[in-house]
Amino acid sequence: KVTVIGSLNVDTTIKVKAMPKPGETLHAKEVFNAGGGKGANQAIAAARSGADTHFIGALGNDSNGQYMQELMRKDSVNISPIAIKSKERTGEAYIVVDEAGENSIMVYAGANMALTPQDVQVSEQVIKASDWVISQFESTTTATEKGFELAKQHGVKTILNPAPALENISADLLAKTDVLIPNETETEIITGIKISDEASLKQATDKLHQLGVEAIIITLGSKGAYYDVLGQSGLVDAFKVKAVDTTGAGDTFIGALSSVLKTDFSNIEEAIRYGNKASSLAVQQFGAQPSIPYKEQLN
Ligand code: ADP
Repeated sequence: KVTVIGSLNVDTTIKVKAMPKPGETLHAKEVFNAGGGKGANQAIAAARSGADTHFIGALGNDSNGQYMQELMRKDSVNISPIAIKSKERTGEAYIVVDEAGENSIMVYAGANMALTPQDVQVSEQVIKASDWVISQFESTTTATEKGFELAKQHGVKTILNPAPALENISADLLAKTDVLIPNETETEIITGIKISDEASLKQATDKLHQLGVEAIIITLGSKGAYYDVLGQSGLVDAFKVKAVDTTGAGDTFIGALSSVLKTDFSNIEEAIRYGNKASSLAVQQFGAQPSIPYKEQLN
């Protein structure tokens, strides 16, 4: 059982030939809406990979909020009770993707940044019954902290995806983090170590271990992922595919991984390979949630 505490957004993806320059007006090739937000993406990825999944987050009292509830229910993500913030808009993201598959993203957090520790507290029993509690930095850190505090009280393991990157993560939150999953950029920002080769990856994970994190998995885009847990470390290669849109690659990796990773880390390499496989399928299609694969595709 996986519980995700985090954000949800309605994404508007705009496909263009090339990124618009300041002052320039362009014809877009295609525009579409889909579900997004790191928290919701990770929850949907876990659910599609077969995990019994619960999501804790906040919506506005608006049509985007209704739309997101429908999407989550369609994927059997349990969202009850979800916090409704009547003074806020449901989160939104505007994603511009060019022909090379490169993206630029603007996010309006809205209701995501109104999620309170009380909104998390009401789901204490859900957290208690979980194998993994996952969170990110796209909703309030106070909600993440509350969720991790409850998880630790009940002996439940936690996964922190420190994204978007924060330079100073509280020592207290890291002390309550069992698995840290940053990408390359986030790793550099947190550790101050430039990632270039396996030696620099080891240096970075050593530093993160010193902060009290038991397991570290650094995702490396088309290079795969590096892990360091219980004295075991190594690189698990990515699948060779042609990426058209990498939005949500990391989220798909984390959700899929959490659906299979054992809490004693005994199958760490296998779980990372499963995450790599899920995200390699996701990057071959447009959109965050539309491209997240189902268990049947993964098998
Ligand atoms: P984020 O989306 O958070 O920046 P990454 O770019 O590191 O995260 O991607 C997460 C995972 O997605 C990688 O570990 C890898 O398994 C997969 N992935 C990302 N880009 C590609 C790619 N071009 N080809 C194959 N797999 C990819």
